[in-house]
Amino acid sequence: MLQRSAQERSSLETLLPVYLDFQATTPLDQRVLERMLPFLSGPVGNPHSTSHLHGVSASKAVEAAREQIAALIGATPEEIVFTSGATEANNLLIRGAFQGKESAGKKSMVTSSAEHKSILEIAARLGASGSDVRMVSINSEGMIEPDQLAAAIDDTTTLVSIMAVNNEIGVVQPLAELANKARSRGAWFHTDAAQAIGKIRVNATDFDMASISSHKLYGPAGIGAAFMARRLRKRIEPLLLGGGQEGGLRSGTLPVALCVGFGAACEIASVEMEKEAFRLLELRDQFIAILRDRGVAFEINGSLKRRIAGNLNIYFPGVDAEALLMRVRNTISLSTGSACTAESLEPSHVLLALGLGTERAEESVRIGFGRSTTAAEILIAADALTKAVAALAKVGYKAPNMER
Ligand code: PMP
Repeated sequence: MLQRSAQERSSLETLLPVYLDFQATTPLDQRVLERMLPFLSGPVGNPHSTSHLHGVSASKAVEAAREQIAALIGATPEEIVFTSGATEANNLLIRGAFQGKESAGKKSMVTSSAEHKSILEIAARLGASGSDVRMVSINSEGMIEPDQLAAAIDDTTTLVSIMAVNNEIGVVQPLAELANKARSRGAWFHTDAAQAIGKIRVNATDFDMASISSHKLYGPAGIGAAFMARRLRKRIEPLLLGGGQEGGLRSGTLPVALCVGFGAACEIASVEMEKEAFRLLELRDQFIAILRDRGVAFEINGSLKRRIAGNLNIYFPGVDAEALLMRVRNTISLSTGSACTAESLEPSHVLLALGLGTERAEESVRIGFGRSTTAAEILIAADALTKAVAALAKVGYKAPNMER
């Protein structure tokens, strides 16, 4: 190996460990931080106290952010309700829809087995309290079959919820086509768009309700939004009762700095999204090519073509994923799947839904590329994985009970 200069060595050292878990969270963009700082350091009024100028300027900042968020998906500001994140938005929109007066006669929900846990848990709760919850599966590519979805919907269906982009395999669903199946039977179409918005163009006309998360698009964590078409506003029961903020749909004082950061992140994404996706696609192709060149045995889980640019989910035959993560953890930060289920060592429900079997699910890792990913990092990551896979495949090591 070539000797590296001291400067090169130190610049490499600053890169370690390389962050490749962008589906779990995206780091705050520095430009977003700059827009937030005045609202963190200065005297900021309560945006709901508009009897004085501090409150008025806080309120203006929040409303400007709401416009930026709405603009990113082609919605109007009054269709955006701030929440603490996508989990809360999913809860508000789905549980709120089922509790709303007008869904009283209707009792069924249709969703998929590959959804995020925050949808699956809500569906389980609705099922336990008497609603009919119907699950559709994904095919081996990770796609929902529109006809299968249509077959699960009938006149009793209040709501259909299908995620826009899967958080583990990055596969993109055809929202407009799926929404048509729901709408033609008089059901509302909700999408958990946490992994989609800011990565691919998403259009509010393609669904009735959507959940958005700021920390998946380089904004601050702890803030997100529920989009609901204007005509549905009055038909959703709030989860949080109190001062009646957000038009009564979500009581509680809004965190001004977080709203401002979320709005700024949406504005940046709106300008840069396509260019960034193109850059990430090139990096991802490079990464795959390096692994192939080095003779690493691997397969991609889910469709590579119908996937966001910043995701890979890779099966390394004979290599225990937990052991692999531990082995590379000083060099690369990556995960086996959903951060929300990282505590459990259960095989990924998404990979199982693909029909891949437990063993393959336990030998697969998720790799997420993002805004700060460089070609040098791709090389470091591919190097580390090549070595670790070779070492682990040889010993056939199975992690008994790895500490995270
Ligand atoms: N849905 C999906 C698809 C996600 O990836 C996540 C984050 N893991 C969530 C919902 C939850 O988002 P938040 O952290 O904003 O509550």
